[in-house]
Amino acid sequence: MDKIYLDNAATTALSPEVIDAMVDVMKISYGNPSSTHSIGQEAKTLIEKVRREAATYLKVSPSEIIFTSCGTESNNMILKSAVHHLGVQRIITSPLEHKCVAESVQELKKLFGVEVVYLRPNKKGDIDLNDLEEALKKLEKKTLVSLMHVNNEIGNLLDIEKTADICKKYDALFHSDTVQTIGHLDLDFSKINIDFASCSAHKFHGPKGSGFAFVRKASGLKGIITGGPQERSLRAGTENVVGIVGLGKALEISIENLETYKNQIQEIKNYTISQLKENIPGIKFNGRSDQESESLYTVLSTLLPYKDAMIGLKLDMEGIALSQGSACSSGAARPSMVMMMVLEEHDMENGTPLRISFSHNTTKAEIDRFVEILISITKTHEIENANSQYR
Ligand code: PLP
Repeated sequence: MDKIYLDNAATTALSPEVIDAMVDVMKISYGNPSSTHSIGQEAKTLIEKVRREAATYLKVSPSEIIFTSCGTESNNMILKSAVHHLGVQRIITSPLEHKCVAESVQELKKLFGVEVVYLRPNKKGDIDLNDLEEALKKLEKKTLVSLMHVNNEIGNLLDIEKTADICKKYDALFHSDTVQTIGHLDLDFSKINIDFASCSAHKFHGPKGSGFAFVRKASGLKGIITGGPQERSLRAGTENVVGIVGLGKALEISIENLETYKNQIQEIKNYTISQLKENIPGIKFNGRSDQESESLYTVLSTLLPYKDAMIGLKLDMEGIALSQGSACSSGAARPSMVMMMVLEEHDMENGTPLRISFSHNTTKAEIDRFVEILISITKTHEIENANSQYR
């Protein structure tokens, strides 16, 4: 049975060209980039090439790209160093952030007494930027705003330019978790007042364990991993040359094909929405997921009109991999914080969230097969429901 992979917001398959580029490095460029001899310097050259490419894409200076092990590390480094080294005493964020931001912020609150202000989203998952402005007006302490560019569960897009301008107006630092957007959107940080951002290669067909932090030069941020002088002393440790080259190749392919992939994936997403609407009566879409201009083209968050804690497993048994949009612990499906924020109580009790996330490898035939299986699962629910009314 051919597997159908619809979990691209969790991770993406490695591109064949990325594998080739990494294998070449594994075989040939084994030097330590800090070594002064030519074998080491060859590895260093490869890293610097990727740094320049990433900087060109974001329209920033190469020295503002700090290679890390992943999005989680980048976000941890930015938030923790902002408190430890930049004197941040208040963080304004939202309950929709990825766990690596949410947990870091909570840790900073617990261990260092940082004040945390949460901006409450509406039921569509939007953060009201007037609330941000109000919160910033009241603040006297040094403040960092941390709001994600795209939510990984529902796909909502934040107006990052406007958010950055508001932060600038009130002299607050601005960090955005851009893990879901780097490699998928055309970003120009020379026009956005953003101080910090994060990237993870495995979200755009690069390797796991490779990412970078964008750190605005003038910010004065320092590293939290200390040791050698790698990455301008912001991130000590011998660089993951293979991973960085893989990231570079993946980014290069993504940038080259950005518009083509975007149009192709958006078309698949629209097709999925129409097929689901047509075939699963009562299906809903969470947040801004089904609104083209307000949601990332790779993510579609749905709510099935029945409760089925086993839906992920049932689909997996049919060869379909996707995410339920809820964290399962000890056999019980508990809705995620994002779902708790965007779902009405009735929907939470009677529906099942399902996140479908696409890549340029996703085909219409795969969507047809997925919808077909979902129709059959839905029918069993309808029959059970009808039977239970006669009991
Ligand atoms: N932030 C967002 C929005 C994500 O979706 C993810 C990955 O799921 C991360 C951060 C963490 O990235 P990584 O898996 O590279 O640690």
